Amino acid sequence: MEPEIIKAGDDAGNRMVVKYTSPEGVVIHGIGVPQAWDSPLGPTWCYVVEGDKLTLVDAGCNGTLTDLEEGLQYVGYPLSAVSRMVVTHGHLDHDGNCFDVIARSGAELWAHEVYGSLLGLDRWNMEADWRQRLMGDRPRDHSDFDERIQEHERLGKMMSLTNPVTDGMVSGGLTFYYTPGHAPDELCILYDRILFSGDHVLPQITPHPSVSMSYQRFRSLLPEDYQLENRYYGLKIFIQSLKRVSKLGADLTVMPAHRAYHGGKFHPIGVDRASAIADHHRTRCHDLIDLLRKEPLELSTLTRKHFSHLNLDNNTYYPAFSEVISHVELLEEMGDVSLAGTDGRTVQWKGTENFSSFFDQD
Ligand SMILES: [Zn+2]
Repeated sequence: MEPEIIKAGDDAGNRMVVKYTSPEGVVIHGIGVPQAWDSPLGPTWCYVVEGDKLTLVDAGCNGTLTDLEEGLQYVGYPLSAVSRMVVTHGHLDHDGNCFDVIARSGAELWAHEVYGSLLGLDRWNMEADWRQRLMGDRPRDHSDFDERIQEHERLGKMMSLTNPVTDGMVSGGLTFYYTPGHAPDELCILYDRILFSGDHVLPQITPHPSVSMSYQRFRSLLPEDYQLENRYYGLKIFIQSLKRVSKLGADLTVMPAHRAYHGGKFHPIGVDRASAIADHHRTRCHDLIDLLRKEPLELSTLTRKHFSHLNLDNNTYYPAFSEVISHVELLEEMGDVSLAGTDGRTVQWKGTENFSSFFDQD
């Protein structure tokens, strides 16, 4: 896929518009829609597909509608021309502008059926419910972010999912793959030989796995078929979804929602990036066990030791802790560690490394 910069942005790709042309002549446009708060992440890449319907894959962060609108104008369309709005997953930096796009265009809303059941919930705080129990005092999110979360929740209550998607569905030139793990409603979407990967597969950075404990919190809210057992939250599920995508075809071009361009250059990836991300988590499991070999460690101590190369502050400690929790959950399920102590916060190694064969599985 040859990228051609239609409109220049900054070094991270904020407000950039890119035209990609595949060897077969398929054209996709990417719009780098910035975050509504200060973020080292860079923009959310929203993609424009000109099939039989004008399709927008992700709409960018809540509060950035004018950036999306301006980008779309460079592609040659007003917002009102969008006829199909596809959401990769319901995090506010992906579907944040959906309400306005739909209000202005009357577009259909396409997303996984789990997305529909979670619309209008404060997913961010609900998904982090466990952290109060395990973390004690909770670091404060900055207020810009809190404000966006509330707005996202408010708008979500006014939206409805007109076109719920399930795994394997094919429609209007798009094939939908259900790839839960980072989020319980994550989709990868295939168009020609192009795979829109949302936050499931990213270049440069590794997506945050969700935490399997969250399932208990959401279980009763999910569609009935999803209430039997957890196949939607946590690192184990994420790794299974990564393995699945890694086998979709070596010739696919992956169009990620973040970091397609960063540090002044493009970062093209294929589905082999999914295997590299899975390997990263295998290494992390290994490193955590290495720390636990010497002595049982309390969760926060384990986090600080594991990330000792980073200077964890209030903003980075929470994601680091969450990352460790998702790995400890996997190790616990594999029988490699147990949680001990009166508050269940001390991780004890049981002398095995069963996680290794899980990562080896096809
Ligand atoms: Zn996300």
